[in-house]
Amino acid sequence: MSDPSLDTVASLPVARSVAALRRQVAAWRRAGKSVALVPTMGALHRGHLALVDRGRQLCTRTVASIFVNPTQFGPNEDFARYPRDEAGDAAMLVGAGCDLLYAPAVAEMYSADAAATIDPGPIAAGLCGRFRPGHFRGVATVVAKLLLQSGADVACFGEKDYQQLQVIRRVVRDLDIPARIEGVPTVREADGLALSSRNAFLAPEQRVAAPALHRTLREAARRLMAGEATAAQAVATAHLALAAAGFAPIDYVEVCDAETLVPVQGLDRPARILAAAWLGSTRLIDNVEARSP
Ligand code: AMP
Repeated sequence: MSDPSLDTVASLPVARSVAALRRQVAAWRRAGKSVALVPTMGALHRGHLALVDRGRQLCTRTVASIFVNPTQFGPNEDFARYPRDEAGDAAMLVGAGCDLLYAPAVAEMYSADAAATIDPGPIAAGLCGRFRPGHFRGVATVVAKLLLQSGADVACFGEKDYQQLQVIRRVVRDLDIPARIEGVPTVREADGLALSSRNAFLAPEQRVAAPALHRTLREAARRLMAGEATAAQAVATAHLALAAAGFAPIDYVEVCDAETLVPVQGLDRPARILAAAWLGSTRLIDNVEARSP
């Protein structure tokens, strides 16, 4: 029997309160089910659905959350214009076999006097953290809340947001939150552009230029792995290629340790090449693996 406190959108059960979420999860627990959580901000695409797929492989019940988290947006960022389409999202989640949507209002997530936050430490300081002060504090805090609210066994996150994935792994490990964090490879368009809810903001000519981000990172990884370039040289060439493709400004291109995200010069340990750059008013991020052959 479904819980009468659950709403329904596009025939998908929806919990709008922590209490309703916990009741549903408790009922599943009594029936011996395991629970995967897929946190999202909505405006779903195939990338998000890959996370739902992975959740369904690992657990017998999958919950997707949709919450556009105000605390991870800076004052001049795109919180107000972030795309929202709950009915469309619910239909996609039903098609993907998701069991429950958790869609709390901001007031349900944060009481007016909520003050405690989670500081992820140095892993959040570089890369996007340098350009988006407080962003990963907001992410870490909301993800910790979602994990505590749901009691999920597994939570799935995309490698597309690679620093976010490593920040969350770190927070979960350091705070002994009993959830397995599962990273899922980036889902891309045929031309290599990573799927993102923000791609909808790209004007047609920007959409044409956008795949250069992934192409440039792949070329940097190739040169580094072939020994044709040092990390510094690969980064310098990538900057030029991105600028030539029309990206401005280029927030960063960096070669970092794949786990700690500390900048590295070589490939003694698995590395990741990460970049963030703007096309007009849209900021795109991407990353690729680089390891010694
Ligand atoms: P968002 O709704 O953009 O906050 O993303 C929610 C989750 O989906 C995060 O774990 C993202 O890393 C993941 N995600 C977003 N885009 C992709 C993609 N193209 N491939 C795989 N995962 C993605």
